[in-house]
Amino acid sequence: MNRAVRHFSLVCLIGTGALLVPAFGQQAPAVPKNVILMISDGTGANAIAATGMYTGKLGKQIFDGPQWIKSWSSTFPLRTGDDPVSGPAGLAQDPQVSYDPAKNWDTTPVTTTTRGFPDHFAGYAWTKKSAPDSANTMSAIVNGHKSYNNAINVDGNGKPVTTFAEIESRAGKAVGVVTTVELADATPAAGSGAHNASRTSHQAITAEMLNAGVVSVIMGAGNPDYDNDGKRRTTPDYGWIGAADWMALKSGTHGSGFKLIEDKSAFDALPTAANPPRKLIGVVHSFNSTQANRAGAAPATEAPYSVPRRTDVPDLPTMAKGALNILDDNPQGMFLVIEGGAVDRAEHADNLGRMIEEKTEFDDTVAAVSAYLGANTNGNNWSNTLVIVTADHDHLLLGPDSDTVPFQDLKDNGPGKVPGYKWQNNGHSNRLVPLYARGANAALFAACAKRDDTYADDMGRRFGRGAYLDETEIFAVMTGMGCR
Ligand SMILES: [Zn+2]
Repeated sequence: MNRAVRHFSLVCLIGTGALLVPAFGQQAPAVPKNVILMISDGTGANAIAATGMYTGKLGKQIFDGPQWIKSWSSTFPLRTGDDPVSGPAGLAQDPQVSYDPAKNWDTTPVTTTTRGFPDHFAGYAWTKKSAPDSANTMSAIVNGHKSYNNAINVDGNGKPVTTFAEIESRAGKAVGVVTTVELADATPAAGSGAHNASRTSHQAITAEMLNAGVVSVIMGAGNPDYDNDGKRRTTPDYGWIGAADWMALKSGTHGSGFKLIEDKSAFDALPTAANPPRKLIGVVHSFNSTQANRAGAAPATEAPYSVPRRTDVPDLPTMAKGALNILDDNPQGMFLVIEGGAVDRAEHADNLGRMIEEKTEFDDTVAAVSAYLGANTNGNNWSNTLVIVTADHDHLLLGPDSDTVPFQDLKDNGPGKVPGYKWQNNGHSNRLVPLYARGANAALFAACAKRDDTYADDMGRRFGRGAYLDETEIFAVMTGMGCR
């Protein structure tokens, strides 16, 4: 099957910083007209399982359907430090943090503690210690290079790397990023093609997104004038958008030509607007996220939706449909990044209820994108569009007795009931994450998933052995090259 879809030859070097080079004289690889990259931040297999158990749709989601390619992706960083390192050492893969199935699944009991959480088993300790962050993982997905944690589209030396957003923009296509968290957070920042040695340079990243001429749609939180409950601040917080940029956007005089919207009604009108703005920045009336940071969280006990959701901010399906309605005015095609960014935020708070809310909203967005393509909207359909649904990394969410039963599955308590679970961490892990793809060139993923995690029995049951690819190979597939 892999042979049938691979009518070109190429060099595919993973994790070395090498670019993919089509062999001379072969048929040029074709990039689909549209690529829609959907990232549920922090969503490992058990985040999907927990949400599916609660909604009663486990294994019956849109992306579980037969048209979707299913695989797994490794997400390890080049190294776990936060800073660039000069010279060849800066580009070398630290072997202690690559993905090693034997270390990941090591059930040897241990008495150590990581970030305040007892490790219980050597595998838990290793996967926490070797975990990546969203900056370097999203960068690896969109530029094909591993880097250090904190890197936004720069290599291990801190040198900028060309991204898929820039490639598509130069090809005349429209590019956009929408997220449920701050618009310049790691995933939208990297997805937009921005470059920075540190993800924490928020204002500079926002300025680059506005001024680089790569993206024409930006949506998310980070609004200087509003807190996380939609209350107007007396003193603006310019943590994400610099004061000069914000003033210019609000007065409609920003040199980039971006038009600003903030009100939910303006977001709601976008999907069906006849003549939407060509360059639009949508900044919801919230600071850190649309919903996940609202008041009232009780992490240990909070059930999904037990604290009423805000009604004054748009949801992610609406933002995605609005972005599609703008970007699809470009006949050359589009690259759209859609991030369910607050899944990860809820996980950092070990708040399973809000994680399920956020993942459900993300799944509804996959359904909205699928409906858009299924209806051949503006000539965009599954034949000319590649949709990728994956995560940038995992969190260590396991079953209720996973202190003593290594890697225990969640306990399904039925629809509408929170499953039995235990957080073994409040941060990231280095476990594999599920990857789903459908549409043009989706079959190329099958050729990339050639690494075998023989320890992953559960993976094997669900997806046919533990075959996996590396996140850098997502870039290879998006660029139409795929893997040898
Ligand atoms: Zn995170």
